[in-house]
This record gives sequence, structure tokens and C-alpha cells, in this order.
Amino acid sequence: MRKETLCIEGGYTPKNGEPRIIPIIQSTTFKYDTSADMGKLFDLEAEGYFYTRLQNPTNDMVAAKIAALEGGTAAMLTSSGQGATFYAVFNIAGNGDHVVASSTIYGGSYNLFNVTMRRMGVDFTFVDPDCSDEELEAAFRPNTKAVFGETIANPALIVFDIERFAAAAHAHGVPLIVDNTFATPINCRPFEWGADIVTHSTTKYMDGHDATVGGAIVDSGNFDWMAHADKFPGLCTPDESYHGITYAEKFGREKAYITKATAQLMRDLGSIPSPMNCYMLNLGLESLAVRVQRHCENAQKVAEFLQASEDVEYVTYPGLKGDAGYERAKKYMPNGTCGVISFGVKGGRQAAEEFMKHLKLAIIATHVADAHTCVLHPASSTHRQMTDEELIAGGVRPDMVRLSVGIENAEDIIEDLRQALESSRA
Ligand SMILES: *Cc1c(COP(=O)(O)O)cnc(C)c1O
Repeated sequence: MRKETLCIEGGYTPKNGEPRIIPIIQSTTFKYDTSADMGKLFDLEAEGYFYTRLQNPTNDMVAAKIAALEGGTAAMLTSSGQGATFYAVFNIAGNGDHVVASSTIYGGSYNLFNVTMRRMGVDFTFVDPDCSDEELEAAFRPNTKAVFGETIANPALIVFDIERFAAAAHAHGVPLIVDNTFATPINCRPFEWGADIVTHSTTKYMDGHDATVGGAIVDSGNFDWMAHADKFPGLCTPDESYHGITYAEKFGREKAYITKATAQLMRDLGSIPSPMNCYMLNLGLESLAVRVQRHCENAQKVAEFLQASEDVEYVTYPGLKGDAGYERAKKYMPNGTCGVISFGVKGGRQAAEEFMKHLKLAIIATHVADAHTCVLHPASSTHRQMTDEELIAGGVRPDMVRLSVGIENAEDIIEDLRQALESSRA
């Protein structure tokens, strides 16, 4: 099935007389006839459900749809995108390990890595996604366990060279993890370019309606853990907390990584999404392909309007000819990039804040990538904990306005921007 069809049909095929769409199985626990039956589940000898903190049928059906959309072999959902990022890395990197990450990743991921995970003993080296080969090579250490980047960086909108980073990761025997939140599998499937694991904040385009916070991790099934067993003891040696199971042996390349994340991390850390939220996420997924296309069409028109405006200092949008990411976007996402644009209003930081005050349709919100057009000034809100140097290293100028173009009529969005730019002229 193609992506548009998978959005509707993926993850769930009702049998005779069963619900038409993925049903909400809102139950903490599941009933068994004998203790022996349940024991097999606990031993991972049989597949089934016993307690929703580990797995739930609604969640798994939605996860299977996302896995199909990405072309992966297994997936798990988490209660937020942050949860997905944390589990994706912590599943293979712990105390004493090291990870190479792009410096332009989402601010929340940057803090998770640079502050919280460092406190847990995981070290990180951040590299400019356009660094030289020598710099990239120098970032690796003997204890490096993964490379992490973002398909289209939020909010810097830098397009990640997935093939290049995948080749570097594989040369060092480690997987590439890519946060594919902004591109979505509709515009880019990182596995086709060599990425091994994909993460999502499903809160953004996948939900798409400002309704549910959530995350997803998808495994390509391609990374050969056993070939690098010395680096990944968590997957390649017995898990004493799980009856001595060796995940990579018992579940193979296709399922080992996600099974470990479920059986160990979700069991112990417990950030499962509610079945009700997964049901709503599924409604968003059904229209993902048509919405993403509309977001991209609108954003292209808006970016061209802003580029032509005398009140605008610069526009960053990988769909614009001449943009730093344009050529790379053509390669990795020929059908469109995302609905998010960043730009600077002439007059700097103050002019940006004045402009935002005059907007009527576009609302100020700490959000992106949903049906409603919204704006944000990252330097004074989401990224306010970062220093100016960190902001610039992360590709976020202090005067930058981030505009998330919704799926309203493009002319209405442009009229709103035009009147706000005119009203805020000094
Ligand atoms: C929002 C976002 C996250 C974090 O997701 P939450 O659902 O807010 O926890 C991670 N990565 C990217 C690219 C994001 O945009």
C-alpha cells in the first residue's frame, strides 16, 4: 500500500463484525483463564496483553500504522515526543556511553541531552550538521553508541544530510537515530536514506489538531546489533531483569530494539500514552497525507510573499529557491518539506515583537505543525533558557519569528501577515 492508503488502512484490519476504525480499549488490565497463560506473557513466550503500562491493543494498532508509514518493522508510542527521544537514546546508551548529535536539534532534545542525560552519565558531542568530514570523524569516541539528528530542524529549518550521517554512524558500528517530526513520513522516510531508528513528536503534524501530546519510536529492523555485540550489551547479553532473555537473539533485528524498549524502559519508566489519546492520534493520521500537502502548498505561498516583502529582513524556508536547504530538500523531500517558516522582521527583536502584537488570524502559541496558523518568538519563549551563543549555534537568531502555516485559506493568512507588517512599521 502507498502512504496515502496506509494513513487510512495501516495498522488495523477489522474482521467480520468488528469495529470499522481502531477501537479504544480503555482497560488497565486483561483477563486470563490460567496463571500459566499469563506466565507465558511475562516470559515473552507468547504475545498478548496483561497490563497497559507495558502494552495496550489500541496503542499497538496506532504504532503499527506509524511503523508502516515509515517503512519500519516495529514501533512503540510514548506519552510525549520527549519520552520518545529519551527512550530512543537511553535504550542503547547509558552511564559511561557517548552520543554524537546535531547541534541544531529541537531545544527540548538539546536540554534533555545536554543537561538531564549528562546527569545520568551519558556524554554528548554536538556537531554542526554542515561540519567538515574531519570534524564529524573527530566527534566519535570508542564509547559512542549512536548518532542523532533531525530531518528538518525545529526551529532552525536546516535540512539534515541523512545519507552522510548514516554512513559516518555505520562506519563506527552505531545506528543513526532521526527525529522525523517536521517532514513526517509523507515527505521523507529516513530509512530509505540509511537511518536506523526514527522518532516523532506525534503532537505535531501526526495529531495535527492541537489535541494530543504524544511520541513514537520506529525501528527500521536494519541495524545488526549482534555484529556490534560489544557495543550493545543491553541487546546482546541476557537481561537478568527479564528472565535472562537476550533481545537480539530472541527477537532478531526486526523486533529486538522495540521489544527491549517496551519490556524494560516502559516497564520501569512508564510513560505510556492513554488509549484515548492514541485513538485521537489515529484520527489525525487518517488525514495526514492530505493535510501535509496543504500545509506545504500554503507555506510555499506565504514564504514567497514574505520574501518579496520590504518589511522582512530574511526568510528561511527549505522550499524557497536559494535557501541554504533548498538543494538538499529537493533530494530528500521532493514533494515538499513542512509548513514551518522562519523570518526576521526589519528592525530586529523589537520589531518582531511589535509585528506579532498586530496579528489577528495567526495566534501566538508554543506550538507548531497543526491546522491553525501560529507564531512564536523562540528567543523570548521556548529557547529563553539558552544563551545567545547557544541560540546561534542551534541556528536560532535572536530576532527570528517562527511561523507555522496552517491549512486555512492561504490568502487569509497572507492578508493577516500583510496588515500586521504594515501596522508595525516604525
Ligand atoms: C515538539 C518536538 C519534540 C518534543 O515533543 P513533545 O511532544 O512536545 O514532547 C521533539 N522533537 C521535535 C522536532 C519537536 O518539534
